[in-house]
Amino acid sequence: DNAQPKKPKWIRVKAPTGEGYNATKKIMRENKLVTVCEEAGCPNAGECWSQGHATMMIMGDICTRGCTFCNIATGRPDDLDVFEPGRVADAVQKLGLNHVVITSVDRDDLADGGAEHFAQTIRAVRHRSPKTTIEILTPDFLKCAPSVLETVVEAKPDVFNHNLETVPGLYPEVRPGARYFHSLRLLQRVKELDPTIFTKSGIMVGLGEDRQSVLQVMDDARAADVDFLTIGQYLQPTPKHHGVDRFVTPEEFASYEKAAYGKGFLMVSATPLTRSSYHAGDDFAKLRDA
Ligand code: SF4
Ligand code: SF4
Repeated sequence: DNAQPKKPKWIRVKAPTGEGYNATKKIMRENKLVTVCEEAGCPNAGECWSQGHATMMIMGDICTRGCTFCNIATGRPDDLDVFEPGRVADAVQKLGLNHVVITSVDRDDLADGGAEHFAQTIRAVRHRSPKTTIEILTPDFLKCAPSVLETVVEAKPDVFNHNLETVPGLYPEVRPGARYFHSLRLLQRVKELDPTIFTKSGIMVGLGEDRQSVLQVMDDARAADVDFLTIGQYLQPTPKHHGVDRFVTPEEFASYEKAAYGKGFLMVSATPLTRSSYHAGDDFAKLRDA
């Protein structure tokens, strides 16, 4: 039985419209950029885009992995486009972003997993928009030499985000191809390599996890010195994807947020519509100016 629980009233998705939304869309098209906002059908697209926030996806829109929650096509990706870092930098400048989130598909087909391309993109954005803070949301580089992480860290993103996505017990069905402890260790190594970089991770809830496992993920992430945490409701992109086990209530989210702050995270966002990149810029600016 694939019957899905009915969407509660706190998951309301407004159709994206408005001048800011259209302007952002135009710049993305002109620069041939892929956004997660569109690919993932993010419920916040209307709000984010009208405020000039967006998450750009580099290295194409075909992924070598097939996470069961994710709407990105699995297959053989195209060759890297050497002009892409420049186009991302151009779009960031035209959009006048204070904070940009740059992510990618997983590139198990590349020896360095795309680490050098990430680094070039960071450098290109930094060069054109020195005041823009840069957050990257990276794949796990599972099949690469450990040194590729240094390539990315040396480019000095302001925030290094890598999502744990779910509790370890659900990895086989939700994130096949990834390893929970590898992802934790990746986050920890970023901090060891450069303690000035903020590290960040996130999980989705409503996939079938229990509260105790979520609290354990928080402890694990803190043990790996992760600074920021996001927790949001999983939504099923299409009926072929992992089912929604249940809708976590706003009260439970508030309780997760409180628990996370209690465990020492510097910044936590835990609401039904929280996404890894939701309000990332505002929150980061607040922290910087504090
Ligand atoms: Fe895009 Fe992130 Fe905003 Fe969603 S939350 S619309 S992915 S910037
Ligand atoms: Fe989607 Fe990332 Fe998994 Fe690829 S690795 S399927 S882009 S979540």
